[in-house]
Amino acid sequence: MSCPGIVHCGAGYVSLTWKRSKFSVSEDGSINVKGAYFDTINTIRAWCSTSTLDEALAECQKYSELLSKTVPGSDVWRVNHARGETVTVNEKTMAILRLAQEVSEASGGAFNIAVGPAVELWHFTDGMAVLPDAKALADAVARADFTKIRLEENAIRVPPETLIDLGGIAKGYIADRIADFLRERGVKSAMLNFGGNVVTVGNKPDGSSWKVGLQNPLGRRGEDFWAFVESRDSTVVTSGIYERGFELNGQWYHHILDPRTGWPVQNNLLAVTACAKSSMLADALTTAMFVLGPAEGSQLAEKFDVDVVFLEKNNRVTYTEGLNITFVG
Ligand code: AMP
Ligand code: MG
Repeated sequence: MSCPGIVHCGAGYVSLTWKRSKFSVSEDGSINVKGAYFDTINTIRAWCSTSTLDEALAECQKYSELLSKTVPGSDVWRVNHARGETVTVNEKTMAILRLAQEVSEASGGAFNIAVGPAVELWHFTDGMAVLPDAKALADAVARADFTKIRLEENAIRVPPETLIDLGGIAKGYIADRIADFLRERGVKSAMLNFGGNVVTVGNKPDGSSWKVGLQNPLGRRGEDFWAFVESRDSTVVTSGIYERGFELNGQWYHHILDPRTGWPVQNNLLAVTACAKSSMLADALTTAMFVLGPAEGSQLAEKFDVDVVFLEKNNRVTYTEGLNITFVG
């Protein structure tokens, strides 16, 4: 199929030919590496040996084989090919599914892992820039009923017409696990960024807390920040319109879908950032809050005791009191 538009897919993932970068050493002594997993580029910066980082990347590979919807035999792949049968899955997958369902209920379906069929129609990860057929999209939305997903102790059953998509929550879970892995290896200082899920391990080596830059959605990626939030053994997660999407005929189509319509959410938001202890929770919540907008989204954040900041197109910023945020400029 042709690709008539501009595609932005997980920091350039579509054109990627490597699985992981070489190690580089920064002036401050940290080792940096990038891995291409989970349809995006994941970075780790840590004060540790390269062999520890090699092990961390091997863990990423394992999580990809467990949770990717496109890897044959993964838990998600088996669920989506089960035609309505119950599927036994790994306890890690179960932990993600349980929280996904909890956030779905708490957000009135704004977060919904049953959006899988609608996500497929948008082809966000394969570099195409084409609009889905309206009838097919309406049909996919009709099938996106998360209340029909049944969870048992170590198994899941989804209706035959439904596909699950953990793209809005899994990277947060994996970032939490890889940060724990580094802590278990004795790493005292590290920062991970897994597709918008930043997790910090400890403080910076000089004892100061990490300052996590919030990407200016319209600026240069990784260089242009509109604010900074402090983080120490915690997570800073952003859902934004710039993370993934494509431009077609002057219109930008981003990857966060309104489960009621199957279309990219159309509100005034550019980005939502949550600060919390659990990156999995913050990941699910930022996706949900993007759909809900600042007013309802803040109420959801409060329910889960998470701090949050909303950035809107008119530069309006709304944030919760507990957030340690410094604005640029
Ligand atoms: P995030 O970047 O964490 O906000 O997640 C966006 C990803 O989650 C998309 O690329 C889809 O795979 C999936 N997704 C899109 N819309 C939703 C939604 N409303 N609820 C749950 N997952 C979604
Ligand atoms: Mg998310």
